[in-house]
Amino acid sequence: MEMKLFKCSVCGYVAEGTEAPDVCPKCNVKKDKFVELSSEDAEKIYSSDRTNSIHSEIILLAERIAELSEEGIELKLDPNCVTAFEKTENEAWVMKQRCKAELAAHMSKGKW
Ligand SMILES: [Zn+2]
Repeated sequence: MEMKLFKCSVCGYVAEGTEAPDVCPKCNVKKDKFVELSSEDAEKIYSSDRTNSIHSEIILLAERIAELSEEGIELKLDPNCVTAFEKTENEAWVMKQRCKAELAAHMSKGKW
């Protein structure tokens, strides 16, 4: 059975299957609102799926690093230690925002 991708024309949800779902799992519209994606558009989605997951995971890890840094800052062991945690927190912010910007770029190009 050949798997195809179908996109909800109302909310953008992408379903995988041999045919479109009876009801959109996100916005509940009926099957006739789904459009089959071209093989080119489907390929973009498949090839970016893992990459987007990696970006999402890095965003979560960066948030965890920021939390740990804040805890370290609050403990105020010594000035150098606080400075190190402040730098780490800023770097975590950069990592998170860079991944978010990349995800936003993927979405705007249909790589989602
Ligand atoms: Zn929908």
